[in-house]
Amino acid sequence: MFEQLALLPDDPILSLIGAFLQDNNPLKVDLGAGVYKDETGIAPILTTVKAAEHKYLSEQTSKTYTGIAGDMEYNHCIEQLIFGQQHPALQAQRISTIQTPGSSGGLYLAAQLIARSNPNSKLWLSQPTWDNHYAIFASANIATAAYPYYRIGQQTIDFEQMLNTLRDEAKAGDAVLLHGCCHNPSGADLSPQQWRDLTALVLEKDLVPVIDQAYQGFAHSLEEDAYGIRYMAEHLPELIVSASCSKNFTLYRERTGSISVLSSNSKQNRSIVSQLLAIARACYSIPPANGAAIVKTILMDEASRLAWQAEVETMRQRLLAMRTQLAEQLQQKQQQVDFSYLLKQHGMFSFLPLNTAQITALREQHSIYMVGSGRISFTGLTTANIDYAADAIAAVIK
Ligand code: PMP
Repeated sequence: MFEQLALLPDDPILSLIGAFLQDNNPLKVDLGAGVYKDETGIAPILTTVKAAEHKYLSEQTSKTYTGIAGDMEYNHCIEQLIFGQQHPALQAQRISTIQTPGSSGGLYLAAQLIARSNPNSKLWLSQPTWDNHYAIFASANIATAAYPYYRIGQQTIDFEQMLNTLRDEAKAGDAVLLHGCCHNPSGADLSPQQWRDLTALVLEKDLVPVIDQAYQGFAHSLEEDAYGIRYMAEHLPELIVSASCSKNFTLYRERTGSISVLSSNSKQNRSIVSQLLAIARACYSIPPANGAAIVKTILMDEASRLAWQAEVETMRQRLLAMRTQLAEQLQQKQQQVDFSYLLKQHGMFSFLPLNTAQITALREQHSIYMVGSGRISFTGLTTANIDYAADAIAAVIK
């Protein structure tokens, strides 16, 4: 049976991590991985997360199965974090949320839900987007297409082309994948006005947004980063949000996320949830418990919640400091490229305008690692290595 199977190529990011680990240069810098690292280069567990985990584990009395929807208290807390406590769609009971194994799990359920609701629906993805979006939706046999989003040459969003493509080519019932904030890979986010304009088009064309929210708290603040989701949930009949606690709770391997679906009324929502539970049951059955228990322990206690918010802000500030310093240093060290665009972008990632030869030279001559697209992750920079990294990048650009 297995003779038929082809050997698939390695995941490019995992290959990059492997090459980085084998590099003996003490000056090496990893600008590839999308995991927050602190000033010492360590991917930390937040103090509030460690404390909540300790409390939860010390009080845990059983490891029996939970329901397929996961922990209902977590679902309630996460829904409030995403949509805000007083959101009219929550009050009208038009939103239902279930726990998922990360946002990857949430997106998987979203893909299968779309396939069950409207198998002819096409999913529109930003050009470029997180590579795994394609794989997840392909696994549900959903046709995909790209809408223009980020112009690599100009380093800005091409909003007009994005709207034109969706207006001219998308069909009623198609889904549009959007990044809630901190667009991966470009770091270029829609402005509040652009969210409002896009919402008007989505309404006019009868499209269904699927919003992937993997970095809430890393652009401006936990509240501001939810603007697009909250605005769309207020003005649209239908919406899917897949959210992740991997980054803002540093829970990566605990696989903690959610899917929320907004529909026209609470009766429709019951049908949707029954479908989501059936999809989950046939796949992973129930989501892992630890991460969700940690998140709810934090969010249900006012003092822990505030302490966690402060920790998210510390991560955000550090990424911003590295972004600002890199932009300033690159500007000082060379004149060919205007790097001020980096200051308008948010979160872990941005593109550097580097070609394949320059990216290879950075890796082979300077032990600086980044993915082939030129996307860099600011988490790999520290005050100790930023001068070295900026010198090397400026040298290959000149
Ligand atoms: N969406 C985007 C845009 C991401 O960058 C990531 C993480 N790299 C994910 C989803 C997956 O997150 P999770 O760990 O919650 O599955």
